[in-house]
Parts: sequence; structure tokens; C-alpha cells
Amino acid sequence: MNEIDHKTSTARFCPICGKLDEPAYKPFCSKRCADIDLHRWLSGIYTIPAKDDEDEDGERPAEGEAGDK
Ligand SMILES: [Zn+2]
Repeated sequence: MNEIDHKTSTARFCPICGKLDEPAYKPFCSKRCADIDLHRWLSGIYTIPAKDDEDEDGERPAEGEAGDK
């Protein structure tokens, strides 16, 4: 029988700040860092246009167009 490792055999570090991660926020150390990473991730995939008060009714990005990647 294989013994499952219940202990954290491999210490992981938060990719954001480098601290030891918290089980609750794996692989991050805190919700904050998880949030930061999520933000980076999102902004990397979805190109968020600058928010302008002006409503340009000419250029509208296709909605629901998911990236090919
Ligand atoms: Zn962190």
C-alpha cells in the first residue's frame, strides 16, 4: 500500500511574495497574493481597455470571443 503524504513534504513558496504558502490559499500565502496573481492572470488574458467616460460606439470588441489559446 502506498502511504499518502499528509504532511507537506515539499514546501512551496508564494510566487508573489516568496513567503511560505498557506494551505487555505495554495499556492499563495494569503488571499491578497492570490488576488494579485488572479489579477495578473486576468489582465494577461483579457485585454482590459482603459475605462473612459466616452462611450465609443464604433469599436466594440466581439463579445464572447474566447481566446484561441
Ligand atoms: Zn504571498
